[in-house]
Amino acid sequence: MISSLLIANRGEIACRVIRTARALGVRTVAVYSDVDRDALHVRIADEAVPIGGSPARESYLVGERIIAAAKETGAEAIHPGYGFLSENADFAQAVLDSGLIWVGPKPDSIRAMGFKDAAKKLMADAGVPVTPGYLGEDQSPETLQKEAAAIGWPVLIKAVAGGGGKGMRRVDAAADFIDALDSCKREAASSFGDDRVIVEKYIERPRHIEVQVFGDAHGNLVHLFERDCSLQRRHQKVIEEAPAPGMDEATRQAVCAAAVRAAKAVNYEGAGTVEFIADASQGLQADRIWFMEMNTRLQVEHPVTEAITGVDLVEWQLRVASGEELPKSQDELAIAGHSIEARLYAEDPAKGFLPSVGRLEHFELDEEDGRVDTGVAEGDSISPYYDPMIAKLVAHGDDRAEAIDKLAAMLDGTEVWPVKTNAGFLFNALLHPEFGSGEIDTGFIERHLDELVPEAEPDEAIWRGAAAVAVAMDEQDELVADLAGFRMNAEPNASVNLGRGGEFRTVALDDEAPMAAVSGFRDEERVVVFHEGQAYEFELSSRGSLGGHGIADGVIVAPMPGRVASVEVTAGERVAKGQRLLTLEAMKMEHGLVAPFDGTVAELGAQAGAQVGEGAVLARVEPGAAAEPSPA
Ligand code: ADP
Repeated sequence: MISSLLIANRGEIACRVIRTARALGVRTVAVYSDVDRDALHVRIADEAVPIGGSPARESYLVGERIIAAAKETGAEAIHPGYGFLSENADFAQAVLDSGLIWVGPKPDSIRAMGFKDAAKKLMADAGVPVTPGYLGEDQSPETLQKEAAAIGWPVLIKAVAGGGGKGMRRVDAAADFIDALDSCKREAASSFGDDRVIVEKYIERPRHIEVQVFGDAHGNLVHLFERDCSLQRRHQKVIEEAPAPGMDEATRQAVCAAAVRAAKAVNYEGAGTVEFIADASQGLQADRIWFMEMNTRLQVEHPVTEAITGVDLVEWQLRVASGEELPKSQDELAIAGHSIEARLYAEDPAKGFLPSVGRLEHFELDEEDGRVDTGVAEGDSISPYYDPMIAKLVAHGDDRAEAIDKLAAMLDGTEVWPVKTNAGFLFNALLHPEFGSGEIDTGFIERHLDELVPEAEPDEAIWRGAAAVAVAMDEQDELVADLAGFRMNAEPNASVNLGRGGEFRTVALDDEAPMAAVSGFRDEERVVVFHEGQAYEFELSSRGSLGGHGIADGVIVAPMPGRVASVEVTAGERVAKGQRLLTLEAMKMEHGLVAPFDGTVAELGAQAGAQVGEGAVLARVEPGAAAEPSPA
């Protein structure tokens, strides 16, 4: 076994590789860019070497600097992780040329699979079924268009050098072809420096099925079954699972055997993934699954395979790189249960999945219901320089339903603030009935997008959940009451003053109203609750601490200093819950203060035009029957 390893990567994958290396007694060396100076992978490695500026092209993509760092620290081998230089054959060659061990396949294998056209030709020759299409010697627009028509609409134009879902255009009709080709070529040229394309039949109801393969230097090559990565947004994987739902044993054997043939055709060593696309319009069938491409590295979603096979794939990588034989033969490998992974991104689904950056003031993930692979910890910052994936949540169950339940629990227990995440979106996708039935394809997310993006505003039940957290915690976030059972201790008609986006409400904690199950925390100024993956922040009125732990009895207070802009009710008036009592103007905004429950305005201290200090009592509502609706 190698004795020391440099990890040419960052984030969760660097941390994940370090974990296994450490368990095997291998010394670890991290590399880092300026912005990653204090990153988690740097903190947990035995040693760390700075390699340059924050943009990846100044650090994680500079091969010479990484090799120099390995030399400097006496590392024996380099593990590239995924992304960055992991599929760069020239870098792999340079690593070998400098006398280091490359934890990955031979540069020739990487090269053979590097371009989609050459790879497909090679695979077709090896007897692996490939997606019908044109592999483009002649790149003239006329020829491409003619070939596309011959394939039959719809077609998919793909950059031969493409990756990460970039450089692909679906074309439904001849009239749209030239525009799509131009834009695809432009994107390919700017992203990959190579504008050549292939044209493929666009597969209807496509499912993404991939097979984990593993080879060693002694001629052994096994597969570790399939994964289904059909849940994608813009051709990027979001939720992955193993085994594939609805895969029967005969089909599995056929596709896994094809993957092994593909890997053998390039004398594959180490961990690799053969990706297929399946036409699932009539379920998964062996004669409707075609080779798409091979990824010559460890995949993001490798943990689901680890969960169902019990194999540590990074351990196998290090053993194979050290010259050992594969630890298991094909017949020693079996599938146990079902595993699903969700990719947690720092992004805001409500704002078109815009990346969200900043400091993770609060960061807690549920490690009880499954495996968490992350590259960050509370207090760390998410920078705009790299991929916004901050963690992978991986659940394993006896069957798919159990895996879904556990992953849903993990997403529900995801507490990230103030950085936004897609946890609520993932939660909704996972619990969608169509996902539950296993009827998935790559169009699932696009089709259901509106249902999957969570409501940005909390409903009544969440307001009450937040009020309960405010009551159950003190200003130092110490528990002072049992969150579940606090109602018993609360006074009748207890209420808490909470604000959100300028609107303040006195939230009643009566018995009848439903309350969302939330977790959360509070300080003097705010309470933040987490529910089904979503974070909701509420401002706490300073007067909230009156009457013990934020409980006030229908007392409406000024949440901040301001001017009473208008008073909408009179003393003695009967009011309905949610009815606006008065309007406070503060910080150039108007804040409506509303009745916490049905009742009567028992006191009215506020006068229009008056300046009031924070916490001033403006009104008090006594509970009672609802007001008669006023005649129209
Ligand atoms: P990349 O290298 O950018 O990841 P892939 O060739 O792996 O590109 O394709 C990415 C995704 O695009 C697939 O998982 C699938 O969802 C979709 N896709 C690729 N080829 C086809 C096709 N012929 N028909 C329909 N969808 C496809």
